Amino acid sequence: MTEPAPVSDRIRRAAGSMTTLLRHLDAWDAARTALDACDLMLGNPQEMPLPGLVETIRRHAIPQDKDWFAYKRSEEQPRAAVAQELREWRDLPFRPEDVFLTTGAFGALAVLFQALLDSGDEVVYSLPPWFLYEPMLIAAGAVPVKVRVREDDNDLDLDALAAAIGPATRAVIVNTPSNPTGRIHPPDTLAALASLLTERSRRFGRPIWLISDESYSRLVYSDAEFHSPIGYYPYSVLVYTYGKVLLAPGQRIGYLALSPSLPGVAAVREAVDAAQIAAGWLFPNAIMQYAVADLALLSIDLAELERKRDLMVRELRAAGYELRAPEGTFYLWARSPIPDDEAFCRLLAERGVLVMPGSVFEVPGHFRISLTGSRDMLERARPVFRTVIETLIDTT
Ligand code: PMP
Repeated sequence: MTEPAPVSDRIRRAAGSMTTLLRHLDAWDAARTALDACDLMLGNPQEMPLPGLVETIRRHAIPQDKDWFAYKRSEEQPRAAVAQELREWRDLPFRPEDVFLTTGAFGALAVLFQALLDSGDEVVYSLPPWFLYEPMLIAAGAVPVKVRVREDDNDLDLDALAAAIGPATRAVIVNTPSNPTGRIHPPDTLAALASLLTERSRRFGRPIWLISDESYSRLVYSDAEFHSPIGYYPYSVLVYTYGKVLLAPGQRIGYLALSPSLPGVAAVREAVDAAQIAAGWLFPNAIMQYAVADLALLSIDLAELERKRDLMVRELRAAGYELRAPEGTFYLWARSPIPDDEAFCRLLAERGVLVMPGSVFEVPGHFRISLTGSRDMLERARPVFRTVIETLIDTT
């Protein structure tokens, strides 16, 4: 009998929840270097970085005092800049002291899970989700509880959420615009969710947190409007990353911001600060913090992103695929022409087009395309999507 490896049971279970993802990432790594692969798999850049980004980072790398590279928690100047931006953007009175700079949205979520959750607490979110909520929650000792979004329009299923929220629920995560569906949850849904959380918090005798993952809130198409869940419910926290709008996820910077109407805010600030230290000095590096105010002025070309979205939605529909046009994010979420989405994605991969199967998002029978692929990749992928669906129709 072989002894189990002497590693943490939590991490073993977190790793177990990523088996499908890791299998696809390994296959992707092998395939993407192949000549001319159309890499539409992850939200990764496929072209050179924004020129303004390089210049901004370079400028802030030059020390202006002896403390430039000293240990940093959340610096005053980026906190003030983010609070000011949020006051205008969200029309809510955010305070600098309620903004905590983090290593992207990953860092913000990891810190929040440490700060807000106890072992065994349940956290509810909707499928298809960002696929790393689950391992992060398990690693934090929490229990993921999952419900499906509504099949017809990818909006939150409030009845399913109501059924899933019980006495052990400590938080609900909402991701809008959603990775992978691109759905922006409308105000009516957010108001109904807030009423549900208020009612359940009262019934179970402790507040349920709303963690609002707004990582893609700068990537909203011109025919849609973003609505933040934050204004609807006092026990809410906003999570943001610059990794999407700058398309530079390797330069880790983001933040979490406590709701301006959060009751007992002082104790929560203390908990977040302690969690950020105790989790391993989980603060972004000094240069990225100094750069925040200038980074907020930069963005990938949203008009070009929208042209890519329109091109691919039109092309895929014309070829016979079923999909809703996303309202935000740089992803398309479509139905696989055959129930076995992994087999379908293999057919695309054999022809040099790499996309993510729905199974990775626990919703088989679908697939996700990343529009971060270059225009050239998308043009070359178009006939492949057509050929594969025609082959499948011919053989079924
Ligand atoms: N939340 C969602 C919904 C995401 O899609 C991602 C990145 N794919 C993250 C959080 C993490 O973002 P970052 O890597 O910039 O921290």
